[in-house]
Amino acid sequence: MALPEADWIWMDGALVPWPDAKVHVLTHALHYGTGVLEGTRVFATSTGPAVFRLDEHLRRLADSATILGFPLPYDTAALRTATLELVRANGHFECYLRHVAYIGYGDMGPLFREGADVGVTIAGWQWADHLGAETGGQGIRLATVSWRRNDPNALPPAAKATAGYLNSTLAKTSAVRAGYDDALMLSADGFVSECSVANIFAVHDGILYTPPASSGALRGITRDTVLTLAADLGVPVRVENMLRSDLYTADEVFVSGTATGIAPVASIDDRVVRPGGSVVREIRAAYTAAVTGVDERYAHWLTRVSE
Ligand code: PMP
Repeated sequence: MALPEADWIWMDGALVPWPDAKVHVLTHALHYGTGVLEGTRVFATSTGPAVFRLDEHLRRLADSATILGFPLPYDTAALRTATLELVRANGHFECYLRHVAYIGYGDMGPLFREGADVGVTIAGWQWADHLGAETGGQGIRLATVSWRRNDPNALPPAAKATAGYLNSTLAKTSAVRAGYDDALMLSADGFVSECSVANIFAVHDGILYTPPASSGALRGITRDTVLTLAADLGVPVRVENMLRSDLYTADEVFVSGTATGIAPVASIDDRVVRPGGSVVREIRAAYTAAVTGVDERYAHWLTRVSE
C-alpha cells in the first residue's frame, strides 16, 4: 500500500513539505523502538471537519511517554494547536492522524538519557476503515494466534509504544498468512486480550462484554466510546476476563478501533458468529451519529478544525 500523501507534515514545531519530513538512520527509535504514537480521526460533519476525542488522544500520548519515562517537549495545548493547524493546512475534510514522539539522533544504547533529543511529528492522510474495507463489510475472520499479548511487566501495553507494535505485527502477519483477516491475542495467562490494533467485544444474552486492561488490552478510545454508547442505549456492559470459548459461543462479536471503526466479526477460529446482530448494528449507528456530529449529545467529543 502506498500512503496517500498530503501536502504537509508537522515536524518539531513547523509545517514541512511531506517529502522532506525525514530522520537520520541513527535515530534512536529506529534501533530500540523508543517512541510513542497515537492514531486519531478527523470526520466530516455538517459544520466542517472535526477531530474525534482529540484531548483524550493527546492525553494518552502524554501518558504513554510517562509510562516509558521520557518527557514530551510540547504540552497538550501546543499539540492541540499543531494538530488543527496541520489539518487546516492539508485541507482535509476527513483523515487519519498519526502523532509520534520518539528519541531522535545523538544517543545509542538502551538508556533514556536525560536531555536526549525527542522529536515529535504529526501526519494526516486519507485512510479508510481498514478491516471493514478489506472484508467488504461482511465481518472479519479472526484466528487465535500463538503470539501472546505483551505482558504488562515486560512491555507495558497501556503505553502505545512503537516497540509494542512488533507484537501486533507478528500476530497480524501470522493470522493473514494463515488466511484470516486479523489476529486474536490472548494474555500470558490465557484470557482474551485484543486484536492486532483493535479491542474486542462479545454479546451474550443482551449483555456486552469486553476484557479489562489487565488482559493487556489497550484502553481504546473507541472502546470507551462503545461502552458509553452502549450504556446510553440501555445495553448492560461488563468489563471482565473472557476465554476464547466465550467468543465461540457469543451471540455477537465485534472489534473497535480508530483505524478500524466498529467491525462485526464473522468467525473466530472458523466458528461462525451470527452476522451483524442487533447490538453491533445499533452501536455502529450510534457511533456514526456521534463522530459525524449528528447526535448532539456527544458534541463535546468533537473539536472543530476551524476553532
Ligand atoms: N489495541 C491496540 C493494540 C491498538 O493499537 C489500538 C489502536 N489505537 C486499539 C486497540 C484501539 O484503540 P483506539 O480505539 O483508541 O484507537
